[in-house]
Amino acid sequence: MVAPGVMPQTQASSAPAATSLTLPALERSALFFDVDGTLLDIKPEPRDVVSDEALRALLERLSARCHGALALVSGRSLADIDRIFSPLNFSAVGLHGAEIRDASGAERRADPRIMDHARKPLRDFVTAHEGLMLEDKGATLAVHYRQRPDLGAEVLRFLMRFCPADGLAVQEGKFVVELKPGLYDKGTAIAELMRAPPFADRTPVFFGDDLTDEAGFAFVNRAGGVSVRIGSPEVRTQAQHVLPDTQALRALLVHEARP
Ligand SMILES: [Mg+2]
Repeated sequence: MVAPGVMPQTQASSAPAATSLTLPALERSALFFDVDGTLLDIKPEPRDVVSDEALRALLERLSARCHGALALVSGRSLADIDRIFSPLNFSAVGLHGAEIRDASGAERRADPRIMDHARKPLRDFVTAHEGLMLEDKGATLAVHYRQRPDLGAEVLRFLMRFCPADGLAVQEGKFVVELKPGLYDKGTAIAELMRAPPFADRTPVFFGDDLTDEAGFAFVNRAGGVSVRIGSPEVRTQAQHVLPDTQALRALLVHEARP
């Protein structure tokens, strides 16, 4: 079905634009949602982000319609995702794929000790640069530079020193660079969930907004699914479709979840 306000991601110059975002029927879909910048607007302080009641009810309705094949896919930890959507506990991917909880409630978490050798150098680096903030999430370490956009390139260069020889990888985001285990990304995590019920044999649909979501878009495209990026249509992305903002996604989901 056609959603209001949907912009096609690519347009052939002479052909009519590909005009519509068509989602597969919920009964045959597996839904994957990034959280910040996708379901909820980004806030300066990540701890201030919390789901409103209407969003929780909407996600519950969608989850029921796709028989539980709905998962949240975030750079946050599973614990932080659960805080935002409390008292609900959806299937979820945390730390860009380093943590995962399937529909049965079983969890797999990367060992935080993988970051041990990087913790002190990162702490020292952040202390030496006014305005930077280190967020220690266990198996990932995030350096936020929202207060100091001028330091973005330097932060990236510093974190690159730790990979790939150490088995780590760098994940860039909006005013943040993270060190994470190199084995996992949002694509590998969605693929992992798709191997088991209730996700298996469904069409994956993934909504995201940031660079970390590109691996998820790429997997979903390969799997014959639907990929949707939230944000400006000017940004290069592997997503097949673009929605302008979180409100447009909310409107689409309300439309899809109607009885
Ligand atoms: Mg996001």
